[in-house]
Amino acid sequence: MAANPVTDYFKGIWNVSSSIFEGMAITLANFMRRPITIQYPDRVPVPVVETLPSRYRGFVEVDPAQCTACKLCATACPIDCIFIVVEKNEAKERGMTDFAVDIGKCMFCGLCVEPCPTGAIRMTPNFEASCGDIDQLVYRYIKPGEFVPPAKAKAALALETPPAGTLADKAMGEALVENPDARPTLVEAVRVNAEKAAAEKAAAEKAAAEKAEAAAEPTPEEPAAEPAPARDDTPSSE
Ligand code: SF4
Ligand code: SF4
Repeated sequence: MAANPVTDYFKGIWNVSSSIFEGMAITLANFMRRPITIQYPDRVPVPVVETLPSRYRGFVEVDPAQCTACKLCATACPIDCIFIVVEKNEAKERGMTDFAVDIGKCMFCGLCVEPCPTGAIRMTPNFEASCGDIDQLVYRYIKPGEFVPPAKAKAALALETPPAGTLADKAMGEALVENPDARPTLVEAVRVNAEKAAAEKAAAEKAAAEKAEAAAEPTPEEPAAEPAPARDDTPSSE
């Protein structure tokens, strides 16, 4: 059936008018009711962190007292935002001299937490970290100048874990005042660690290839026994 232009004209007017009245009715309804704006973060009845589910993945935090310096977390991080420096002191004892997490880069995936043998690294519900400089998002759990010997796994597992978020809160507070130029140092630490890991991997691959080559070589054969001299059965003419 062909469209009637007069009907379409009035239908259009009706659609426009009704949608204007519908919108104004919603505006009027909200205009009359009491405002429900929540003054965040100062006037919420309960801190938002406390309302989050227990498995919420916020900032990563580390308890150095539980850390064995195995670096499994740094290896597992797909985007290199965990920095651990392990060195030997004058007494030739091994210890960590830096352990930092770049929260500005972290994507809160939780992959670093999975391989940790002692639970020293964990996700927390903390998520608020506004600051004026991206370097202030590097949270240091061991700072340059400190020397923390690695924990023994069994003893570390027996340690009481501080409430989730306590250490991250402390690290955040310190980062705000102490981190004017943390990132270049950490980028350099990542570069050195990556080079070291690549060299170790290349050496391991070379050793494996040499071993496989040696196994594939044929063992030298025993020299063939000399044939016994043929017996002369012809009767002697004597
Ligand atoms: S949560 Fe993911 S991105 Fe963040 S430090 Fe751990 S592994 Fe890296
Ligand atoms: S936090 Fe856990 S995984 Fe990372 S170095 Fe320490 S013990 Fe190893």
